[in-house]
Amino acid sequence: MAGQRILVVEDEEAILEIVSQALRRNGYEITSASDGDSALEKAFALRPDLVILDLMLPKMDGWEVCRRLRADKETAAIPILMLTARRDEKDVVEGLDIGADDYMKKPFSLAELTARVRALLRRSSPTEIGMVVEEGDLRIEMDGETAFLRGTPLDLSPTEFRILDALARKMGRTVSREVLLSKIWSFYGGDTRTVDVHISRLRKKLIDGKRPELAINSLRGRGYRLVWEE
Ligand code: CA
Repeated sequence: MAGQRILVVEDEEAILEIVSQALRRNGYEITSASDGDSALEKAFALRPDLVILDLMLPKMDGWEVCRRLRADKETAAIPILMLTARRDEKDVVEGLDIGADDYMKKPFSLAELTARVRALLRRSSPTEIGMVVEEGDLRIEMDGETAFLRGTPLDLSPTEFRILDALARKMGRTVSREVLLSKIWSFYGGDTRTVDVHISRLRKKLIDGKRPELAINSLRGRGYRLVWEE
């Protein structure tokens, strides 16, 4: 799926560069960090869909970054692909023990890296396992395509449902109109004003007079984001 965001954490500039480029070519949005501290900061701020994490890093090593991501419920479910330069199996085992989902030993091929990234994102994609998205008092059930606000089912069209689902999965983050348009037509292209129309209908349906209010913010020229407002 295009537009998924990957945080690449690597202190070796050359590796960071080629990995980022390869993933960008595959349609992913890339944010990078070159030490453990900024990796954590960016992971909490951006809530990426996947983290590629080098183990040997300045300031805070990859194991500790992984541990802290797993310890916080906001980031606990983000898939982590560890990169290790060391041949020691113990490193790998420890990485997997503290919650990494997969690992690769350097040097690795970009084709293999891309394949693993794709597999991890697929595995973690909620649509694939027909589950439920929960964001505070919003609950979205993929089976039956029903969304509940504070327990009350919302009367949404299939398109409104898909838009709400796309926004909720990126709660608090901006989703571009192009991405939302692809939820309506299942391909890229077409008139993004169509999105605006659906959004304005959806907004009205989210008003239930209670606080916090589930609101859709528009960010001029960039897209929309779903937030809870007091
Ligand atoms: Ca390193």
